[in-house]
Amino acid sequence: MSDCLFCKIVAGQVPAEIVYESGRALAFRDINPQAPTHVLVIPKEHHADANALAQADDGLADEVLKAAHAVAVQEQVAEGGYRVVFNTGAGAGQTVFHVHAHVLGGRDLTWPPG
Ligand code: 5GP
Ligand code: ZN
Repeated sequence: MSDCLFCKIVAGQVPAEIVYESGRALAFRDINPQAPTHVLVIPKEHHADANALAQADDGLADEVLKAAHAVAVQEQVAEGGYRVVFNTGAGAGQTVFHVHAHVLGGRDLTWPPG
């Protein structure tokens, strides 16, 4: 998708701090972090949202989840606890319509906040 911000990051046309890459997934730091670790994990292939990713070809959603886990290990939040969030649709606050998992960690993320 030529006008998609995250496709441009995949293509190297928009800079990003890449922290992890696998064959079909890419992870980079969120530009406006909400936690000490705030990484976005995307499939390199364009799918608008989690609905589309769930219906994509075999293994793509799996690879995105595995990449999120690899990021959590790399960022040393896998043991302490982290959150993986797919905002799905404008009503849920999705603003970039290239599916992305937010990987958040490094602070207290218990819910509801204590
Ligand atoms: P959403 O609201 O769609 O779930 O999340 C979009 C996320 O993308 C936001 O957390 C926002 O800070 C992040 N974001 C928006 N533009 C850019 C950008 O150009 N680079 C990076 N690294 N993150 C971005
Ligand atoms: Zn895209």
